[in-house]
Amino acid sequence: MPTYDFRCLTCNHVFSQKLSFSERKNAACEKCGSKEVEQLFRRCNVLGGTSSVSGDITGGKSACSRTGGCSGCAGC
Ligand SMILES: [Zn+2]
Repeated sequence: MPTYDFRCLTCNHVFSQKLSFSERKNAACEKCGSKEVEQLFRRCNVLGGTSSVSGDITGGKSACSRTGGCSGCAGC
């Protein structure tokens, strides 16, 4: 089962949860229990290790900038 990263829109807590694809929308903050969460993308990890960003077509880069230049991403 894949692990997805989320950021809570209520308390700003960043966390990872193992969810199936269909369960993603049911993710809830592990800290405050809010379901007001947005999904983060680990793509910035990949970008950090490669010089080529041309393959980034899914908005992963903007997802990173939204979290404060990767600082909010787990593992970045
Ligand atoms: Zn929260």
